[in-house]
Amino acid sequence: MRRSVYTEDHEAFRDSVRTWLERSVIPNTEKYIADKALPREFWLEAGKQGFLGLEIPEEYGGSGADDFRFPAVLNEELAKVNAALPTCVGIHANITAPYLITYGTEEQKQKYLPKVASGECILAIGMTEPSGGSDLAALKTTGVKDGDEWVINGSKTFITNGYSCDMVITAVRTDPELGPKGITLFAIDADKDGFSRGRKLDKVGMEESDTSELFFENVRCTDADIVGELNQGFIQMMVKLAQERLICSVANIAHAKQVLEETIQYAKDRKAFGQSIGAFQHIKFQLAEAQTRIDVCEAYVDNCLAAHDAGELTAVEAAKAKWWSSETQSDVVDICVQIHGGYGYMNEYRVARAWRDARVTKIWAGSNEIMKELIGRELGF
Ligand SMILES: Cc1cc2nc3c(=O)[nH]c(=O)nc-3n(C[C@H](O)[C@H](O)[C@H](O)COP(=O)(O)OP(=O)(O)OC[C@H]3O[C@@H](n4cnc5c(N)ncnc54)[C@H](O)[C@@H]3O)c2cc1C
Repeated sequence: MRRSVYTEDHEAFRDSVRTWLERSVIPNTEKYIADKALPREFWLEAGKQGFLGLEIPEEYGGSGADDFRFPAVLNEELAKVNAALPTCVGIHANITAPYLITYGTEEQKQKYLPKVASGECILAIGMTEPSGGSDLAALKTTGVKDGDEWVINGSKTFITNGYSCDMVITAVRTDPELGPKGITLFAIDADKDGFSRGRKLDKVGMEESDTSELFFENVRCTDADIVGELNQGFIQMMVKLAQERLICSVANIAHAKQVLEETIQYAKDRKAFGQSIGAFQHIKFQLAEAQTRIDVCEAYVDNCLAAHDAGELTAVEAAKAKWWSSETQSDVVDICVQIHGGYGYMNEYRVARAWRDARVTKIWAGSNEIMKELIGRELGF
């Protein structure tokens, strides 16, 4: 079935992304894994290609495409290489930067956005804390007013790009009495006194995506560092989480689709009992089921993309895309590992890494249980 969500312009853009990946990124992916992070050159090179500023208005150094399908194409192509690339780029360009674009002051936009587009300022977003991530409204990092300044204390964990970020948009409790209505987002530069990071966390997969704990010890900010409005951070996050879940869904499906494509080829090439293993009915049916699941899920995610571009995507629609695509991704890559037999369990095989990488997508960006909670609420429960 032809995908109708993209036009010729998007496909031409896809070609330019692919050319860049083949030339500058794919040859270095093993090094990224060894370093447990993407190097600065990756970001600068992506910036030079214009890939980090697709959502950023032209006056702040981006291309101001105002068409979310371009970031979607970028994330699809990154996901075909591995699951970590869209994670790091997505957090930077499509999850954190939009807070500045939508809610930032003129001063913040001028300070950060040109460098976000060029890759000189790597972004992270700090919501989750060691005490919990699902119950965002209960976060404990505090901001207390001291004269003209805010004094911020607390910690965040599992922060993507945390080890390499230059600025982190941090969710802070600024009013202990107001629950979700007492949370404010601050733009905190990584060179501020009192800010520090833990080690790169040792994850099950996605080694090349750096993930860290962040610590705030009497970090001093001012009102000028508030992104959006005082005590409106929770609402701002709820608004922006729909796009976050959509871009995750786009990457989930593209990643699984690529692994499946490679597995179909493997099932044709690999022989057992005198025939291609794909000719065994069990394997043929598994591949048929996996392909159908991918195609059906992709169609829903494409629909969400079109809805998002039209400004109509709801939080619940994005939640459905996120849980379904991550579940589909995990199930499909698991089947792919099985079809690869023992090779499927070897780290040097892409399919093994894909399987480890995929596991987290059911947990992050709001766990799938939380997604179902949101969907269930809309059903009236
Ligand atoms: C590799 C990685 C990268 C990440 N990157 C970022 C990042 O950049 N920024 C950031 O802020 N966070 C990030 N996260 C954090 C992620 O979003 C959280 O891990 C996730 O939201 C779950 O929070 P938690 O780990 O504290 O689990 P908990 O909230 O403690 O939940 C534990 C379990 O209980 C379930 N649960 C909780 N509440 C309910 C409920 N009401 N009903 C049913 N089940 C429930 C959860 O679904 C989960 O299965 C990242 C996580 C990982 C692993």
